[in-house]
Amino acid sequence: FIIPDWSGFTKHIEDFYWKCKSNSEGKVASYIPQLARMNPDYWGVSVCTIDGQRFSIGDTSIPFTLQSCSKPLTYAIALDRLGQEVVHQYVGQEPSGRNFNELVLDYNKKPHNPMINAGAILVCSLLKSLIKPEMTLAEKFDFTVNYFKKLAGGENLGFNNAIFLSEREAADRNYALGFYMREHNCYPDKSNLKEILDFYFQCCSMEANCDTMAVVAATLANGGICPITEEKVLKPDSVRDVLSLMHSCGMYDYSGQFAFKVGIPAKSGVSGSLLVVIPNVMGICTWSPPLDPLGNSCRGVQFCEELVSEFNFHRYDNL
Ligand code: GLN
Repeated sequence: FIIPDWSGFTKHIEDFYWKCKSNSEGKVASYIPQLARMNPDYWGVSVCTIDGQRFSIGDTSIPFTLQSCSKPLTYAIALDRLGQEVVHQYVGQEPSGRNFNELVLDYNKKPHNPMINAGAILVCSLLKSLIKPEMTLAEKFDFTVNYFKKLAGGENLGFNNAIFLSEREAADRNYALGFYMREHNCYPDKSNLKEILDFYFQCCSMEANCDTMAVVAATLANGGICPITEEKVLKPDSVRDVLSLMHSCGMYDYSGQFAFKVGIPAKSGVSGSLLVVIPNVMGICTWSPPLDPLGNSCRGVQFCEELVSEFNFHRYDNL
């Protein structure tokens, strides 16, 4: 086993869990009523190793929407199907140094990276227009869900229609980003902006729980092979690129500090979820709705800090 003393390890995870549970900082996202109603006490942590050992504690079977945690997944599909060169003709690899939904492009008038809204919307346009462009929106939705499901080893993955409708309703900024990018010819030819945004909101509105998302993180930790089904879902090169950008850009405008203090690729979402990948070891998903001012889950960030203070999972530990 990759973690020989499993029960010793999970005791530590339990300790961190209880430590973070008493953290009452942060505010639940309030831009749509469905998220604002989330109970701030929800707190779950799930772990899945690359050899399939699993552990969960807390609210790990309650579904939440993926929100920004879908961004590394759609980016992974784009890389896997189109290759790095094509994808990065359209989107950069640089942290933006700004908020995730800031109305700003880089010096080449491209989105800074695929982990912020502009970049993720752009990646959705690539999935829509460059991979099997003959597919309808419905077919493209199924295609994407199937990919997410394979990453999750076939475990529970749903779609929250109320969140989708609310996202689309409260989307002035995302529309603004969409039009701004159209003004600068960011999309592939024949792209339809309304369809791209609908597809983006659909990806944000996919629903899963901590247990499922820990498997997704573990598939990334395992070079693209799902540890539960042993299916090869992504090429190792695609996974490497996804993890590189999760490391530098996955935690919104806290990414630099997180890379310094925690040193592990991760991606957060406004529903309070946090995907954490310890390459060649394990995937972790934490979920707790209260967010800090930059949009990261307060308990999730604390959990990661506790984790690396006990274990040498920081990329540059013990060099
Ligand atoms: N649905 C959110 C948005 O587009 C997702 C962003 C996020 O999770 N930070 O604004």
